[in-house]
Amino acid sequence: MFKRVLVANRGEIAVRIINALREMGIESVAIYSDADRYAVHTSSADYAYALNGNTSLEAYSNIEKIIRIAKAAGVDAIHPGYGFLSERAKFAEAVEAEGIKFIGPKSEIIRLMGDKFEARRFMLSLGVPVVRGSNSIITNFEEAKEIADIIGYPVLIKAAAGGGGMGMKIAYSEEELKKGLEAVQKKALADYGDSSVFVEKYIERPRHIEVQVIGDNYGNYVHLGERECSIQRRHQKVIEEAPSSILTDELRKKMGDLAVGIAKAVGYNSVGTIEFIYDNGEFYFLEMNTRIQVEHTITEMITGIDIVKTQIEIAAGLPLRFKQEDIKLNGHAIECRICAEDPFSSFMPSPGKIIEFRPPGGFGIRNESGVTAGYEISTYYDSMLAKLIAWGNDRAEAIARMRRALQQYVIEGPKTTIPLLWAIMDNEDFKSKNISTKFLEEHKELFEEAKKFADQTTTLVNLSKIKE
Ligand code: ADP
Ligand code: ADP
Ligand code: MG
Repeated sequence: MFKRVLVANRGEIAVRIINALREMGIESVAIYSDADRYAVHTSSADYAYALNGNTSLEAYSNIEKIIRIAKAAGVDAIHPGYGFLSERAKFAEAVEAEGIKFIGPKSEIIRLMGDKFEARRFMLSLGVPVVRGSNSIITNFEEAKEIADIIGYPVLIKAAAGGGGMGMKIAYSEEELKKGLEAVQKKALADYGDSSVFVEKYIERPRHIEVQVIGDNYGNYVHLGERECSIQRRHQKVIEEAPSSILTDELRKKMGDLAVGIAKAVGYNSVGTIEFIYDNGEFYFLEMNTRIQVEHTITEMITGIDIVKTQIEIAAGLPLRFKQEDIKLNGHAIECRICAEDPFSSFMPSPGKIIEFRPPGGFGIRNESGVTAGYEISTYYDSMLAKLIAWGNDRAEAIARMRRALQQYVIEGPKTTIPLLWAIMDNEDFKSKNISTKFLEEHKELFEEAKKFADQTTTLVNLSKIKE
């Protein structure tokens, strides 16, 4: 097993990985930007190295510097977390070239799956269903129009290198296609240095369902069931749950077998996620994320398997400890992403100092955060402050527990998405499983309803309620 591991990330996921390392008896090495000198991940690790000399924005993406620190700190492996360098094949290669283990899959797989178009083409060759769309990269409007005319509007223009909900535009007409194509190409070139885009049929009210897969270095593959992540804003996940509330056992098995088949076909040797879009009893491959995912926690809650520890064990060369028949799903889990954003002003980021920070606890509640009182939220990074996870024997119990915990979550200082999440837990369509990726757009009233919760979240200690 590794003796010392560098965590090339920040925030809640860095803390999550450091916790796993500590439980495994492995020393942890954190890296921190100027803005993160007083962050939780910096003080949680056994050692912490400054990334100074870089702006805070670029610090966690500096391959050369991170490898230099890894060598100076004498680590035997690097965990990339999610975002930042986690899906950069070049980083995985540079790490391994120094004789340091990259905690993730082989770099060829990262490269293949990092390009949405190549991944789509590969899936077609395996006979995996994909959404109807282009069979080649689109270079000009005529090509885009030709495909849109065949598959029909609306269409989705996607950057091959996109991720995190970025680099996508919907077009309902020829004019929108023309404008959207230019915009996505331009953004893709600026953000990823690659202007490759393709066009897909835009499915209007789908559900997002994904399968957690695991492969080791000895040809063992399992899946840990699915997660549903249909509650989204701007193609980004807001609430996730496991299992999905719509899959039948038959479809669950079909999707799980297909996901394992894909993992086998590429010789996948880490933990990963295969994302599908579900519409009317049919599902289509969206993309594969070759890293730990934000919402891995809910799968852990219903399987009892620590996915981060498993990922580290596989990278260290251990075989999988369990087989498919050992995986039993127990109960229901929901995750809410708590972001420093104002849900009442189009989710505008709300940076600033956190005055008070008291996450809830109690049976079935799990909190994963990378901040504490006194921490100053900057505008450099993702706005997610914490993830709140509720487990219940069934979906209704998980919802009631989540609602209770959201009510008890005290964050003073920045505005957060807690009031909106709370309102969603009370929503009849959410409770009766009537959801899709359009849920928030179709429930504008939630933003009104959330207002009544906005003042309640921080009034848990309400002195007027205390009777002498
Ligand atoms: P998950 O299902 O794990 O949430 P996401 O695609 O939402 O997957 O990405 C997780 C994190 O990584 C988010 O913080 C997101 O902003 C970031 N991310 C992933 N890929 C990219 C990318 N290509 N460009 C920018 N950010 C990304
Ligand atoms: P990212 O790398 O940004 O996560 P994905 O391909 O996973 O990109 O898509 C992100 C989200 O965008 C999906 O969860 C879904 O809500 C939406 N989406 C993607 N493709 C389609 C499609 N063809 N039709 C409708 N929605 C889609
Ligand atoms: Mg995705």
